[in-house]
Amino acid sequence: MALLQISEPGQSPLPHQKKYAIGIDLGTTNSLVSIVRSGMAKTLADEQGRHLLPSVVHYCKEGMRTVGYEAAAKTLSDPLNTLSSVKRLLGRGSGELKTLGNEMPYEFEVDGIGMAKIKTAVGLVSPVEASAEILRSLVSRAESNTGSSIDGAVITVPAYFDEAQRQATKDCATLAGVKVLRLLNEPTAAAIAYGLENSNEGIIVVFDLGGGTFDVSILKLSRGVFEVLATGGDSALGGDDFDHSIAEWLYGQTGLDRSLSPKEQRLLLETSKAAKEELTKSDRVDIDVLDWHGTLTIEIFNEMVQTLVDKTIRACRRALRDADIAKNEINNVVLVGGSTRMPIIKEKVEQFFGLEPMTRLDPDRVVAMGAALQADVLIGNKTGDDMLLLDVIPLSLGIETMGGLVEKIIHRNTTIPIAKAQEFTTFKDGQTAMSIHVVQGERELVDNCRSLAKFELRGIPPMVAGAAKICVTYQVDADGLLNVSARELTSNMESHIEVKPSYGLAEGEITQMLQDSLTSAREDMLSRALREQQVEADRMTEDLLAALNKDAEALLDKNEISCLHAAIEELNKLRKESTEHRLLARQIEAVGKLSENFAAKRMNASIKKALKGKSLDQIENNQ
Ligand code: ADP
Ligand code: MG
Repeated sequence: MALLQISEPGQSPLPHQKKYAIGIDLGTTNSLVSIVRSGMAKTLADEQGRHLLPSVVHYCKEGMRTVGYEAAAKTLSDPLNTLSSVKRLLGRGSGELKTLGNEMPYEFEVDGIGMAKIKTAVGLVSPVEASAEILRSLVSRAESNTGSSIDGAVITVPAYFDEAQRQATKDCATLAGVKVLRLLNEPTAAAIAYGLENSNEGIIVVFDLGGGTFDVSILKLSRGVFEVLATGGDSALGGDDFDHSIAEWLYGQTGLDRSLSPKEQRLLLETSKAAKEELTKSDRVDIDVLDWHGTLTIEIFNEMVQTLVDKTIRACRRALRDADIAKNEINNVVLVGGSTRMPIIKEKVEQFFGLEPMTRLDPDRVVAMGAALQADVLIGNKTGDDMLLLDVIPLSLGIETMGGLVEKIIHRNTTIPIAKAQEFTTFKDGQTAMSIHVVQGERELVDNCRSLAKFELRGIPPMVAGAAKICVTYQVDADGLLNVSARELTSNMESHIEVKPSYGLAEGEITQMLQDSLTSAREDMLSRALREQQVEADRMTEDLLAALNKDAEALLDKNEISCLHAAIEELNKLRKESTEHRLLARQIEAVGKLSENFAAKRMNASIKKALKGKSLDQIENNQ
């Protein structure tokens, strides 16, 4: 999951410098290209007026390749050379391709560098190469439409795409010769198309039922920045399954008891798909297939797809739970994907969320439109700063404190630029230097976070532990550059360092670190509690041993002394061996109780000593 996009206010270019930026929805089933004209996002049609481009590439023996409708028409006659749904294969390793490949009709081969490729009439083709053909086709559509070359594109990806899948998508663009301005999450694009970022705050559910996949995303919008709280769905549930339901029903109706030829199967499926789509416009559809004539009503259809619809609703429930969001907290539900045109989907979604879903925009086009709006801003066509796009810190920035614990100073998802300061103090008497360790991550222990930088603040005037005041400031500028400074407030000694937090950290690693922090939250809490007790145990042992060395003989009897030593020993043993913070806490308390008497005696003794030989005047003057 990538965490929010977006940066820099739009600049106003001179009119003759108009730049062309496009938004591309590179879909599993269909792809689209969109552009902003007079502030409105429009999807572009091909010469026949069709907006959708089927995500299908056909390779023929002569080395020719076709894309879109023309390619899709070859599915039946030349299945091995007609590649569809290649988006499912993008960024997947050869191991994953083996399982995925089983569900596809193609032959796979692993090339010299371990990349899985598809065997076609023109040789081995990688999923990236096939997707690049689709991109090329969309870009050339945009070029002929604008009569100009295209300066950049925003390409959308599913919110759950990992780093490898995102990287593969970028590779497609490079191969197609398109400059990627940004990859944008599909649900975020849909929300932008509806202008939801202008509402500034809110929880948005994006329900995306496409041809072969179902994705539900829970987005949180705060101060104009989108955060993906949870994603869910089913990568093997989409419009195709609804086609299959009708096909099965038809098979039963026609009374056929023989297996169908591939051509007949295809015909049955195509008829089913057409019937399904017709049923979004009318209550019944007449069907004429394989010598069978009959009628399919919306009631029968709704009944046969009930389990499919229920599955989508269950996934919504799960995603809400993952995001820890209650239904009444949701502000908007957005429908995306051609399959959300089915009335039964709209009805059930509305029923489940108790909120009328947004359907004003064409569910096929909404993702591409949002991408185009974003592309327009990023290329600098948007005037003024009314669409101030913001970037956020993907992982928390913190500082190492005693016991290897992390104190977060700037929390993840904070909008930059930002500066935050926090005060710390010394741990030991007379401490004159302090080492500042800057870390990044969500976990509680330094060992589980990423170390960004270490530096030292020297020249702290010697004081008793806890008396020095060290102010540590973390400042992140608009480019994501972190500057950390530390200043001792009584002496004004200062030291600082500059680090680039995201340097060398791929998006996938960020995701991994976030996932780790979620899955390890409980474990982390326990280890933090343990570390805290360990630090406390060390402090107590050190203090008590020093006090015993100094005053034990004068103030305690032998028995008391050995009792205290035994208690300290037990504390140290637990400190080393116990992994249970409560046990350690109990022993710390026990040692504390046991040493109370000793502490009281020392206090009295020191007061007596302080008072000895002083006049009342001196005492009153606090000398
Ligand atoms: P993807 O995002 O996976 O590329 P799309 O959003 O383009 O997919 O959705 C394609 C699916 O939408 C197909 O299964 C198609 O049958 C379905 N679809 C398109 N129009 C309609 C309609 N009017 N009624 C029902 N389903 C439709
Ligand atoms: Mg889609």
